[in-house]
Amino acid sequence: MPRPTYAEVNLAAIRANCRAVKSRLAPGVRLMAVVKADAYGHGAVPAAQALQEAGADAFGVALVEEGVALRVAGLARPILVMGIAPPEEILAAAEYDLALTADCPDTARQFQRQAEAHGRRLRVHLKIDTGMSRLGVRAEDAPAAAAALARLDRLVLEGAYTHFACADGDAEDSCRRQLWRLRGALEGMRAAGAAPLMVHAANSSALVRFPETHFDMVRSGLALYGIRSCPDAARVDLCPALSLKTRVVHLKRVLHGEGVSYGHRWTARRDSLVGVLPIGYADGYPRLLTNRGQARVEGRLCPVVGAVCMDSTMVDLTDVPAARAGLEAALIEADHDSPISAEAVAAACSTIPYEILTGIAARVPRVYV
Ligand SMILES: *Cc1c(COP(=O)(O)O)cnc(C)c1O
Repeated sequence: MPRPTYAEVNLAAIRANCRAVKSRLAPGVRLMAVVKADAYGHGAVPAAQALQEAGADAFGVALVEEGVALRVAGLARPILVMGIAPPEEILAAAEYDLALTADCPDTARQFQRQAEAHGRRLRVHLKIDTGMSRLGVRAEDAPAAAAALARLDRLVLEGAYTHFACADGDAEDSCRRQLWRLRGALEGMRAAGAAPLMVHAANSSALVRFPETHFDMVRSGLALYGIRSCPDAARVDLCPALSLKTRVVHLKRVLHGEGVSYGHRWTARRDSLVGVLPIGYADGYPRLLTNRGQARVEGRLCPVVGAVCMDSTMVDLTDVPAARAGLEAALIEADHDSPISAEAVAAACSTIPYEILTGIAARVPRVYV
């Protein structure tokens, strides 16, 4: 018997989101489904299978081992490793036909040496930094980097891409500036005789907000899991795929004036019934939700009372009629309008839904419906 705490993942929702995202793209524009970090906590292999069924053309991962896991599970579409593969993982990338990201000529030369040593060829996407100030060659250096890469006979310059820093915010001119730098870099690459086969730039937010960023392919993650990366994402019919559920394992009478949990950070202001939920911060339910989170029990929102512990969280069930052990408690609901949507839980923790979803621990079983 699995523990009563689990993340329920609706694969039909993931498929529907994939189709909704694809419908925003002009014919011929491909969709790279980003499934890094265990598909944002949804389970990489089941999510990738659902996405492939719904028409995802390629997959994006952060790590070589994430790409290998997809191949081992039988996923055959192109896979791009968006992080920088360390030298000791380059051979695996070649063996499992993963495209790698080169962020500078040195990385490309490293790839070439490894590919040559093992008699392999490698697909490479050149990352161009147009303003994120993270990975990538600076836009003005991209033509020379691409030309250098094109001279390395073991590498195929399959793509060139950039990543937006502010696609989800108000800073529209920042995106336009990045786009302008990307176009300049691409022009320089063409002039240098090192044009990539494919160009991509947009994440979920840019894909919704700026069609001019679509190029040959978009890279979408969050939207495929039904979560809005920015308010404009409400224009796409997205259905959240994940809910986090558990059961009340114990019911405790707490008298007026008594404290609950570590530090007694909550004190009962009336005689109360407190439910113990077998989920805590080690499961990815943030400790920041101490006295702040809510659980839905029997249709009612019940406040988290006292400190969230490593393995347990307490909720006030005084107002739940016939409260008893065994009742289901939802901590994240798959509904944009719920006060405990992934977006709302993230806001209560002053963070973004990405962190809440990817933070759900491996010890929480994923149950697919
Ligand atoms: C994670 C990631 C994405 C996907 O971003 P979403 O906002 O989830 O759509 C796209 N590109 C790169 C480089 C990424 O790291």
